Amino acid sequence: MAGLAAKQLHVLRRRDFVVGDALIDGRWIAAAERDAVIDPATGEEIAEVARCSAADMERAIGAAAQSFASWRELLPASRGLILRSWASLMREHAEELAILITSEQGKPLAEARYEVVYGAGFLDWFAAEAERAYGETIPSHKPASLLQVRMQPIGVAAAITPWNFPVAMITRKAGAALAAGCPIIVKPAPETPLSALALARLAEEAGVPRGVLQVVVGNSIELSAPLLRDTRVRALSFTGSTQVGHLLLEGAATTVKKVSLELGGHAPFLIFDDVDIGKAVTGAMAAKFATSGQDCLAANRIYVQRGIYGAFVDALAAAMAELKVGHGLEPTTDIGPMTKASVAEKCRAHIADAVTKGARIFSTGNGEGLGPNFVVPTLLSDVTDDMLIAREETFGPVAAVLPFDTEREVLARANASEMGLAAYVYTDSLRRALRLSESIEYGMVGINTASFTGPPIPFGGWKQSGLGREGSRHGIQEYMELKYVCFGDLAA
Ligand code: NAD
Repeated sequence: MAGLAAKQLHVLRRRDFVVGDALIDGRWIAAAERDAVIDPATGEEIAEVARCSAADMERAIGAAAQSFASWRELLPASRGLILRSWASLMREHAEELAILITSEQGKPLAEARYEVVYGAGFLDWFAAEAERAYGETIPSHKPASLLQVRMQPIGVAAAITPWNFPVAMITRKAGAALAAGCPIIVKPAPETPLSALALARLAEEAGVPRGVLQVVVGNSIELSAPLLRDTRVRALSFTGSTQVGHLLLEGAATTVKKVSLELGGHAPFLIFDDVDIGKAVTGAMAAKFATSGQDCLAANRIYVQRGIYGAFVDALAAAMAELKVGHGLEPTTDIGPMTKASVAEKCRAHIADAVTKGARIFSTGNGEGLGPNFVVPTLLSDVTDDMLIAREETFGPVAAVLPFDTEREVLARANASEMGLAAYVYTDSLRRALRLSESIEYGMVGINTASFTGPPIPFGGWKQSGLGREGSRHGIQEYMELKYVCFGDLAA
């Protein structure tokens, strides 16, 4: 495992694909101070990147503000052409991008390849949405008047992005902002700067003009402060923990920015005893173990109706026993390392807490001893509502299964959370599916499926899982202002 990422990156370096400098005002900035990028599987340093200062961020804000007028004046179709060209370059360089993602984030290469295609899809989607940002005409309530609503770009936007989808969370935000006519400054997660910087290089190649897309890397607190206090930054989009979401929302209040937040999940996965157990296990495996469990859509509470409870637990354990744990660049790997040591520690704390409080544990033993960031895929059954894992998002390959008796009971337990991102329901009863899809308090609901994301859908959560929506026809609105215009005195 040692040296695996370094060997692959050596090839990419020769192709100029490992970029260590930040992109500010059309120039690549080395910065006096540098930060190490670490392969989370081995702990090895694989690259160095610029550590930008608050002054660098202020320069980026100035450059973005300067670029706004000419970018918004481009015809939407012309902005769309540039976005499409950026998407094509991503697909052309999918393998290089995927290697970068896996090397710094840890996910299996096949999932990284998927992320590149998924991420490019947002650019194509918003390229088309640029031309559909319609306003409206309102039947007038005033004589001799014409009432119009126009959608206009809000101004400079900022994106603070997470490490679990280091490419797609950038294109989902930047695609929408650029399509709307807004320049955007991206502050990627310090753990995963290489994929962000490679994306910026491709954006430059695609013709995104100077100052319109900038990537500023470095310390999150230092770099977010100028973004929050500067009145020229009119929109802020963040994906990450609810805790940091609170801080950013508070910080953005002083300048009343338009804020969109995609925060933590804690998805309930409801399985009723009328379903095919095999299909439910396949769904639960996908919803639990994608991105090695580091996914805001991850099934954190798998509720199984008593009639099939034992059989389901046995079948899930058998499926989990097959999971291969290893370096993401090894082709057989299903589960990579956790990107951050703190995530692995949280998983272990959830396991310990559940076992102390009486949960049954099935440890697959897979990946044992590989290193501190690896978490052995673990099944906890007979989980009760007082256990930490039933109350907080785990963000790792630990499956918690909880028995339930009635629909009314499980609905109340599923909704008894401050999180409201995604929920899953497996049932063969159409009436039950319709009832639950209406009464479950989550922003996204998968009925008999664990796969529902993509550019056309409004991604986002209720309650403390966030504000606003990304993707879909709604996503572009996060970067637009509505303007009402009344033309009066029109009588001849
Ligand atoms: P985090 O919220 O600390 O980090 C997410 C991003 O926020 C980082 O990449 C960083 O760029 C930025 N950030 C961190 N502190 C900041 C600050 N004070 N000001 C401005 N920006 C800041 O999350 P984490 O500790 O890396 O991960 C812990 C938990 O966060 C996970 O267990 C999970 O619950 C959640 N998370 C969710 C998502 C998601 O997709 N919704 C993604 C990553 C993490």
